[in-house]
Amino acid sequence: MKLFAFEKCSDISDAVKKTSASDTAQQGANIRFVAGGTTLLDLMKLSVETPDTLVDINRLPLDKIETTRDGGIKIGALVRNSDLANHPYVKSHFPVLSEALLSGASAQLRNMATTGGNLLQKTRCVYFRDTAYPCNKREPGSGCPAIEGDNRTLAILGTSDSCIATNPSDMSVALMALEATIVIKGPGGDREVAINDFFLLPGSTPHIENVLKPGDLITHVVVKPMPAGSRSVYLKLRDRASYEFALASAAVIVQVENGKVSRARIAMGGVGTKPWRSLEAEKALSGSAANEANFRKAAEEALRNAKPQSHNKFKIELAKRCVSHALKMATT
Ligand SMILES: Cc1cc2nc3c(=O)[nH]c(=O)nc-3n(C[C@H](O)[C@H](O)[C@H](O)COP(=O)(O)OP(=O)(O)OC[C@H]3O[C@@H](n4cnc5c(N)ncnc54)[C@H](O)[C@@H]3O)c2cc1C
Ligand code: SF4
Repeated sequence: MKLFAFEKCSDISDAVKKTSASDTAQQGANIRFVAGGTTLLDLMKLSVETPDTLVDINRLPLDKIETTRDGGIKIGALVRNSDLANHPYVKSHFPVLSEALLSGASAQLRNMATTGGNLLQKTRCVYFRDTAYPCNKREPGSGCPAIEGDNRTLAILGTSDSCIATNPSDMSVALMALEATIVIKGPGGDREVAINDFFLLPGSTPHIENVLKPGDLITHVVVKPMPAGSRSVYLKLRDRASYEFALASAAVIVQVENGKVSRARIAMGGVGTKPWRSLEAEKALSGSAANEANFRKAAEEALRNAKPQSHNKFKIELAKRCVSHALKMATT
C-alpha cells in the first residue's frame, strides 16, 4: 500500500478547501475525503486507489437525520447506514430506504458506512479491483476485459463499449425511487442535484461516475415525503441470502386508487451501470389496473433496452420477475 498523508478536519469549508486542489474528485484523485473507509481503504490496500492525502471528514457536523417541514427528511452525509436504517421515522415513513440499507453488506459494515460514502461506492467488477488487469474505469483507455470475460454479475442496462460495470449500491436504488436530492458544497458554493442526474453513464469516460467536481463534498441527502397512501418495497435477489450484492433488485413505490395504479416509482439495482430508474415501467403502469399481468408488462418495459453480455443474460428474466414481484408485494 502506498504511503499517504492523513489530515483531520472539523470545519466543512476547510474540508472543501483542502480537497479542491485535487486533480479530480474521481478515481485516481490525489486528495480524497474518507468517511467510513469501508470502500476507500479496501481499494487502497489493493492499490486500486492511490491517493497522496486522505482528509478525514468524520468530525464534520453532518451526522444528523432531521425531519423537514413538509414531512421529508434531511440526512447528513455522515449518518451511518445502520442509524439511517433503524431510525424510527425512516422505518415508518420511508420503509423502502430502511429495507434497502438493511439488505446491504453486514451489520459491522453498516455501522461504519456513511450515507455519502454509500452513494460513491465503487463497482465490484473483479477486473477493476485487480491491478493485474487493464480496466477503462481504473486506467482510461486501457481496455475492458469484462466484455469478453467474467461478466456474470455485471450490467445489462446503460452499458457502453468501454465499460459494463454494475453500480453496487442498494441505498441509491431506494433513493432513486424516492427521487432524492443530493446537496453538495463545493469551492464555488452550494448546489443541489436530483439523484437521477447525479450518476453518469459510462459512455467513453467510465472513470467519471458522477457530477462531483474537485473539492465537492456531499453534505446532505434530502428526501421528500412519499404521497399519502403510498406503499413501497425493496426486493433484492442475490446468490446467497445475506452479505451479498444484488444480481437484481427493485425499489417500488406505488399508490393504488379504486384498483388502479395512480402513481408508480420504479428503480432497479444490480442491472444498471448506475442505479436505474425506469420511467418506461412507471408510464406503463400508471392508470392500469393493479394486477399481475400489468406488473409483468411494466417489468417488460423496464428491461426492454437490456443488452446482455455472454454470461448475464439470465439477469433479464430475473430482473423482470424482481420488478413484478416487488409490485405485487407492495400492492397486496
Ligand atoms: C464486504 C462488503 C460487502 C458490501 N455489501 C454491500 C451491499 O450488499 N450493498 C451495498 O449497497 N453496499 C455494500 N457494501 C458497500 C458499503 O455499503 C460501502 O462500502 C459503504 O457504504 C461506503 O461508505 P463509507 O462511508 O465507508 O465510504 P468511504 O470508503 O469512506 O468513501 C467512499 C468514497 O466516497 C468518498 N466520500 C465519502 N464521503 C463523502 C462525502 N460526504 N462527500 C464526497 N465524497 C465522499 C470517498 O472519498 C471515497 O471515494 C459492501 C462493502 C463491503 C466491504
Ligand atoms: S466493466 Fe468497467 S470496471 Fe469492469 S473491467 Fe470493464 S471498464 Fe473496468
